[in-house]
Amino acid sequence: MATLSIIGTPIGNLEDITLRALRVLSAADLILCEDTRMTKRLLDRHNLSKPTLSYHAHSKLARANEIVSMLREGKNLALVSDAGTPGISDPGSALVALVRKELAQELASGALKIEAIPGPSALTSALSIAGVPCAEFSFLGFLPHKKGRETIFKEIASSERTMVFYESPHRIAKALSSLKDHLGPQKQVTVCRELTKIFEEVISGSAGDVLAYFTSHPDKERGEFVVIVSGEPGAL
Ligand code: SAM
Repeated sequence: MATLSIIGTPIGNLEDITLRALRVLSAADLILCEDTRMTKRLLDRHNLSKPTLSYHAHSKLARANEIVSMLREGKNLALVSDAGTPGISDPGSALVALVRKELAQELASGALKIEAIPGPSALTSALSIAGVPCAEFSFLGFLPHKKGRETIFKEIASSERTMVFYESPHRIAKALSSLKDHLGPQKQVTVCRELTKIFEEVISGSAGDVLAYFTSHPDKERGEFVVIVSGEPGAL
């Protein structure tokens, strides 16, 4: 039986990897990566030496056909992304969708298994420390840069549910400024920055407060960010 193992990997701290993930990585015939250099850092840290292949470099279609053929031959492949859980706002899900489509028969007959090897995600890590209501929430991934952006901010402002999105360092100030324009002062905004890394921090307050923090600390507009907007003002 061939296996495609979808493996969660660290979002910063290279120790954040499960025993099962390490075992499956070390047993795989090949590791499919977003960026082979990023994955090599993780493998080196855990003394693993394995062949790797970038699944979205060069001609995406040629690579996809190559991967499908390997699974047909009964190979055990591991799939990782640069950070966190493959498929959560990264290209992992496109490959899984393609394998599910192309190898539907093999999946149905049991000749192929696609398995989850769960691990960290910036989404769940941020929610776990923010202290906001998250029995239910909406995850928006990366916000659109232009078309639909205004509508999304209106949706965030009117939502009774906690809303979460990912943001890049180039756009964090812009996003906070839009939140300030759209949200009432009583809605709580939480920015989780550089999770699991040396400069991890959580900044919380009204959109105006959080924007003011970044405006007065421009050096903090670096790194990786998760933004959380609470639905119910002040509720836990
Ligand atoms: N698949 C990943 C996951 O499970 O979280 C997300 C991949 S997405 C391409 C990368 C975005 O996730 C970053 O731009 C940032 O918004 C967020 N992110 C990843 N690592 C993070 C970290 N250590 N701290 C805060 N946000 C992070």
